[in-house]
Amino acid sequence: MKVISESVIKSNTGKAFPVKKGQIIRVIGESTADYVVFNLHNVKERFDQARTKVDQGKIYVTTGDLLISKYNNVMCSTSFYKKWGEEIFKIYGGVWKRLGRKRGVAPKHGCWENLAKALKPHGVEKEDVPSPLNIFQTMVINAKTGSMRYAMTRPRLGGDMMDLRGEMDCLVGISACPEGGRGKDLRIMIYK
Ligand SMILES: [Zn+2]
Repeated sequence: MKVISESVIKSNTGKAFPVKKGQIIRVIGESTADYVVFNLHNVKERFDQARTKVDQGKIYVTTGDLLISKYNNVMCSTSFYKKWGEEIFKIYGGVWKRLGRKRGVAPKHGCWENLAKALKPHGVEKEDVPSPLNIFQTMVINAKTGSMRYAMTRPRLGGDMMDLRGEMDCLVGISACPEGGRGKDLRIMIYK
């Protein structure tokens, strides 16, 4: 393993990382990481939750899954290093502010703002930040009705980790989700 970079994302802030094809970005955390990805050479091509779900034929992301772009290309492949529960795409991913406002507890900024700020220097407009993959977030879903609610299952102290390998040259954006005050810092490593 050759470590290319290591960094910390403070809770309720975001960072952007170029991840070249074949490089692996490792996300280590005890709370939710909002993860989005773009084609490094054309940021109009971005992660698409719906295409990813259809292509995988499921809504949970586990080892060996693929993240698919708006243009239907494979962006990343995934590996979890610990099996710790249910993982899922959060349907309302990243639109924390709007949801929060409805409940009267809006923070000044949330994941969408964190991602928009981190990705702006790379030419990504805030409207073009896609709904994220919410790493380490768990939901309980009723298979019959489709209703869902937050589950508070999270990685144990010290954090679990997920590896995402670039299957194209990627621009990755990650926000350390505030999770209503429960969010922790994330550790990020890029290696080859
Ligand atoms: Zn979030």
